[in-house]
Amino acid sequence: MSSKDRAFMEIPRRDAGYRRPEERLKDFSAVELRPGEDHVREQAMRCMDCGVPFCHGYGCPLSNVVPEFNEHVFNGRWREAWDILSTTNPFPEFTGRICPAPCEASCVAGINGDPVAIRQIEMAIAEKAFEEGFVKARNMERRRKESVAIVGSGPAGLAAAWRLNRAGFNVIVYEDSPRAGGILRYGIPNFKLEKWIVDRRIKLMEEEGIHFETGVEIGKDLSSRYLHGRFDAVILAGGAREPRDLVVPGRELKGIHFAMPFLIQQTRILDGEQIAEDRIISAKGKNVAVIGGGDTGADCVGTSLRQGAKSVVQLEILPEPPRMRPPRTPWPEWPAILRESSSHKEGGSRAWSASVKRIEGDSSGSARKLHAVKVSWEKNDSGAVAPADIPGSDFTLDAELVLLAMGFVGPGKNKYVEELGLALDKKGFIVRDSRNMTTVPRVFVAGDMTRGASLVVRAIADGMGCAGSVMKFLGEK
Ligand SMILES: Cc1cc2nc3c(=O)[nH]c(=O)nc-3n(C[C@H](O)[C@H](O)[C@H](O)COP(=O)(O)OP(=O)(O)OC[C@H]3O[C@@H](n4cnc5c(N)ncnc54)[C@H](O)[C@@H]3O)c2cc1C
Repeated sequence: MSSKDRAFMEIPRRDAGYRRPEERLKDFSAVELRPGEDHVREQAMRCMDCGVPFCHGYGCPLSNVVPEFNEHVFNGRWREAWDILSTTNPFPEFTGRICPAPCEASCVAGINGDPVAIRQIEMAIAEKAFEEGFVKARNMERRRKESVAIVGSGPAGLAAAWRLNRAGFNVIVYEDSPRAGGILRYGIPNFKLEKWIVDRRIKLMEEEGIHFETGVEIGKDLSSRYLHGRFDAVILAGGAREPRDLVVPGRELKGIHFAMPFLIQQTRILDGEQIAEDRIISAKGKNVAVIGGGDTGADCVGTSLRQGAKSVVQLEILPEPPRMRPPRTPWPEWPAILRESSSHKEGGSRAWSASVKRIEGDSSGSARKLHAVKVSWEKNDSGAVAPADIPGSDFTLDAELVLLAMGFVGPGKNKYVEELGLALDKKGFIVRDSRNMTTVPRVFVAGDMTRGASLVVRAIADGMGCAGSVMKFLGEK
């Protein structure tokens, strides 16, 4: 084996890889393989322990102390690695699987080579910790008298609940879905994140004393005014679920759905829920057009292929990004490069610079064909870069199922937000101050609901920060 000092030059990056597409398309189980222990130790050895670790201080929103846990992994000291990782990240078993890893984008080894495989090392530490029994519910005997209500059990709400509970506060998490986890549970497909991983964490949190009230919609089953009166502080972490719509002729046709109901329904079916025949959104035997080239769209591609779609095309209005880091996003910034999810390697095709103009239906009012045109991105007269239709580039696609995955515009209208009279910004996101407090005293906000649709790691960081603000506020009192 190379010496640790030279490992980054001598040992190439190796990822554990994925199950073969023809095999993994037959089920919804995790596609990524778990790396073996020797593999992970070898990859951890590639960490240069550089003087200024940008992975830790710049890339990771949680400021994970990457060089230190890498050193322990390399030496086989898993307990120490876990202690360091879990100090900054309460849920590395999630981020180790689904984080796009901004830490790797800012890894110094990545300036002119392959970055350290930090995400996989993180997953390995987390799973080793569960296997070895390092992850245990803490006995929270000493409780404070204050209680905090959290609305929403996505990563932001979970992180806030976890931190407040560890500080001794009494925490109740309200969630309108049947099970806790937010998009981790209902949204991100099982093949990226199997749901036993979410359930395992929720169970631990319950054992530590966090109370989850699922199937309770705040604003309908309970008012937010009630929460405000009953609890010492309230944290809103309801996410940003209002999808961007497609405004084209034919939008009203049958067979056109937003991505989330499609993805959520698949998870519910896998959970054993019975869905009425006439409500099932299925890609089986259909030509599928996924509109929107991002992660949500990619999840629709993978789900459609598993359901047995005849064909799948993912359309994106932006041009195809470069494969190499472009000068406008230099290291250590997040690179604007082409991203291929595991779903893209399973089938289907992608169309870039494609703008959908209308959807054609049949006599029964069902979608049948999508009409689109290629666009060029040029500066217009006012200096803004905008798409312009390329004459003669019109094309059509057969599409009996059209899935809209064009991002999320905000939290949408929420009764519980209106009840409290919270101030919103121009886009409808909840306004907060530097203490994470909304314009109503004792009401705090975290996650996508205030910062806009983002990443799990950012929601966790935001939830942790918000919990810190609540602790300070209640402590000060
Ligand atoms: C399909 C999809 C795939 C994604 N894949 C990835 C990925 O691979 N990696 C990554 O880093 N990020 C991914 N993201 C983004 C990431 O999931 C989100 O940024 C993150 O979940 C936001 O966390 P949150 O806690 O703010 O909100 P959410 O996860 O949206 O959770 C909010 C919760 O609040 C509940 N709620 C809302 N209103 C009420 C109410 N009135 N009463 C009670 N409960 C309520 C909702 O039901 C929900 O469970 C993905 C997003 C989507 C949509």
